[in-house]
Amino acid sequence: MDFTLTKYRALLLSLRDAEYQFCLFRDYKLSDNVGKQVYLRHDIDDRPENALEMAIEENRVGIAGTYYFRNRKHIFIEKIIRRIEDLGHEIGYHYENLADSKGDAVFAIDDFRINLNRFRAVADVQTICMHGSPYSRWNNLDLWDQYSYTDEEVILEVFRDIDYNGSMYLTDTGRKWDSGRENMRDKVASSIPHSFQSTDDIIQSIFTLPSKLFITVHPQRWTDNSVLWIRELVMQAAKNVIKRKLIRH
Ligand SMILES: [Zn+2]
Repeated sequence: MDFTLTKYRALLLSLRDAEYQFCLFRDYKLSDNVGKQVYLRHDIDDRPENALEMAIEENRVGIAGTYYFRNRKHIFIEKIIRRIEDLGHEIGYHYENLADSKGDAVFAIDDFRINLNRFRAVADVQTICMHGSPYSRWNNLDLWDQYSYTDEEVILEVFRDIDYNGSMYLTDTGRKWDSGRENMRDKVASSIPHSFQSTDDIIQSIFTLPSKLFITVHPQRWTDNSVLWIRELVMQAAKNVIKRKLIRH
């Protein structure tokens, strides 16, 4: 079975065996690009309790990553956010203001500031990452055509400030690693292409991967609980059909 916490742990351990150093996005601009580096990004689109489970798992094997939380009632759970930060991970804001405001940038920037402050009351938030909002016609990144997040003391936006040249970008979007057909907005330019399907494919190639990796996971997808695992499998298969249709039109 793929997309279980057990499989995820195997991936982490193989990265560690291959001597990758685990980096946080807030340190991206300070990093010296020496040696092998992996940036672990977690997009918390749903089920924050799964994120906590993952955070505990990573902490157990001595690894830290970055957790981007959406500002949604069932996701912004203060206790969980604090706990994840206490485990040594970075917390960031997974924003979607332009989709929420249906393209009204004035409303969106206001909403962004309010939510950012809400996060900052709980954790040390320095970096942000747009939520892909696959069902919305608005691209959340477009907010920055009119406004600047540096004015809000945000030091990095994951899709705007990172040079993906010469690196490999791996994302579990659509509950697969080769999601070209379903991936709407979660993509980056100039990363080295790959055709991994399963997590085992990645693990088997771990020693041949480039020295810089960006791995994005959605914790709600990774579970050892068989009921949740099947639920996620069925839901994601349905979503992928819709997304393929949206991309075609
Ligand atoms: Zn997202």
